[in-house]
Amino acid sequence: MSILKVARLGHPVLRNVAKDLAPKEISTSETQRLIDNMIETMKEYDGVGLAAVQVHVPRQIAVVEVANNPRYPQKPEVPLAVLINPKIEPLSEEVEEDWEGCLSIIKMRGKVPRYKEIKVVGRNREGNDVDFVASGFHARVIQHEWDHLQGKVFLDRMKDLSTLTYLPEYSRYWINR
Ligand code: ZN
Repeated sequence: MSILKVARLGHPVLRNVAKDLAPKEISTSETQRLIDNMIETMKEYDGVGLAAVQVHVPRQIAVVEVANNPRYPQKPEVPLAVLINPKIEPLSEEVEEDWEGCLSIIKMRGKVPRYKEIKVVGRNREGNDVDFVASGFHARVIQHEWDHLQGKVFLDRMKDLSTLTYLPEYSRYWINR
């Protein structure tokens, strides 16, 4: 396995709409290796999610996991999941704002409104259908990664940029607010 280079804001690959995988593409060694490397890269940089576009591959693959994460110490755990060709749908109009960061937008945080509860359908790395409901931080992480697969970043979703902050200023002025 290897750690992949993460594209930073400004790299055009982050603005691509990622292409779906055909069912037979999921089991290929190339796709499986990419997924392993994405998981390793996410863990290396203490991410809670990573989309393939962030490692310069414009395909509909995202990985998520929240487990003892130093960047998000207060957040509930989310088991490791691989989402292929994900589709999401809000289960209500209820939205909440909370802080997000991004491995492609380094050393910054901002408050982003997200749906509180979503339905997620797609496939896992075995190519099997997945269909589940996610809420709270879990739903937030999936919406953030899904956005990447549409060529969007969290800045695009902020209502305004007044909470956008560098991490040292976040710790100094904003933490727990
Ligand atoms: Zn991101």
